[in-house]
Amino acid sequence: MSVLIRGGRIVTAADDYVADVFVEDERIALIGESLDIQADKVIDAAGKYVLPGCIDPHTHLDMPFGGTVTIDDVESGQTAAAFGGTTCHVDFVIQGKGQTFAQALDDWRAKAAGKQVIDMGYHMAVTDLADGGTLEELATLPDQGVTSYKLFMAYKGALMVDDETLYRTMEVAATTGALVMVHAENGDVIDVLVKEALAAGHTEPLYHALTRPPEAEGEATNRAIQLAHLAGAPLYVVHVSCKESVEPIAAAREKGWDVWGETCTQYFFTSLDDIAKPDFEGAKYVFSPPVRDKSNWDVLWNAVRTDTLSAISTDHCAFLFDGQKTLGKDDFSKIPNGGPGLENRLQMIHEFGVRAGRISLNRMVELLATSPAKLFGLYPRKGTIAIGSDADIVVFDPGKQVTISAKAQHSKVDYNLFEGTTVTGSPDVVLLRGHVLVENDELVASPGIGQYVARARFGQELKPARTAVA
Ligand SMILES: [Zn+2]
Repeated sequence: MSVLIRGGRIVTAADDYVADVFVEDERIALIGESLDIQADKVIDAAGKYVLPGCIDPHTHLDMPFGGTVTIDDVESGQTAAAFGGTTCHVDFVIQGKGQTFAQALDDWRAKAAGKQVIDMGYHMAVTDLADGGTLEELATLPDQGVTSYKLFMAYKGALMVDDETLYRTMEVAATTGALVMVHAENGDVIDVLVKEALAAGHTEPLYHALTRPPEAEGEATNRAIQLAHLAGAPLYVVHVSCKESVEPIAAAREKGWDVWGETCTQYFFTSLDDIAKPDFEGAKYVFSPPVRDKSNWDVLWNAVRTDTLSAISTDHCAFLFDGQKTLGKDDFSKIPNGGPGLENRLQMIHEFGVRAGRISLNRMVELLATSPAKLFGLYPRKGTIAIGSDADIVVFDPGKQVTISAKAQHSKVDYNLFEGTTVTGSPDVVLLRGHVLVENDELVASPGIGQYVARARFGQELKPARTAVA
């Protein structure tokens, strides 16, 4: 199947020009002005942007957590992603207590079998090196294309690891070429604050935020940076939410250390005002790190503009308000932590980043596609519009007005963090390796079309899949 995308404005992290794109055998075969070529399908992109498919490096689909399971499985989550212009994501495999990494990977692969709508890779969340997973086994994961290790410095008694596990994993990463990712919050201190709040009778959602102060994030971020530097491992700090963690990342990057940070869409738009909403509505905004004081919004925009933070993910980890969040109706510490967002990242960052003049169109593409691709071993096969790259393409209509609502979304969750927000600019046609996924607001492709992508080691390129040359 061949596709010709005519006359669109091609925007990559570096370039911005009008040209045609010809796709054949799942890859971009030609780019040029007024291409004189026949194709099975022609898409008129005049007046539209032609963007690389976005990459979400941080999602949780079909994940058991907090006494329940995230509401979006691979099919519904990836469908939501496709409508939002995301054509590849990297999901977290969570090693269960006593499980080997191979067992954990098998579990996650089984959840995805036959359901994949977009392409995906896996990070390995290391939770237990004492029983089950070993350092030796950890070292073999990059051979299977699992080239990043995630550690939780929070969620004491559940996912949290001690500094020994953190440091030993960093040592392995330093030798295998994997990227270390941390959820940086001080879980021990948070545990004390949660117990104190509950003992004082504070049970409402707001206390989720008040017991996870920015200092706990700043401390853990700095600790992870120092330990990674000591171990000689590259470090990526996920979901940075506040000034206290932006600052140590900025300081490390200024020194030339191998440290990167990401924030997520919701941290630009949500605050303590939301989690303080009455009648338990604040529970919709319970995720970790928590919503912060509004003064952090400008800090984060500035950080993504200046490359102190290098990627924007969603941390999509969706729980129903009615039936899942309500598990914590009488105790904020029992509200499942996580929020949705997989479908609205591109719309929201385009509207409030690009259209509001905070970042350029090129920088938006870099934050949502190119940098995640480079950091997570997917580039240049993904993350750009170039000859030989996978034809993962979003034809984006910058004039299309959409009002975001839970009613219209494709995720199974029953609320939206950006409910009622009107944006100008939304994906029109979304292609995955040249196959049309979304067109005319319909999912055109069937689940099963998405593939697992074995990612390259940190700092290495993922070459386009080899096809026979005619
Ligand atoms: Zn997460």
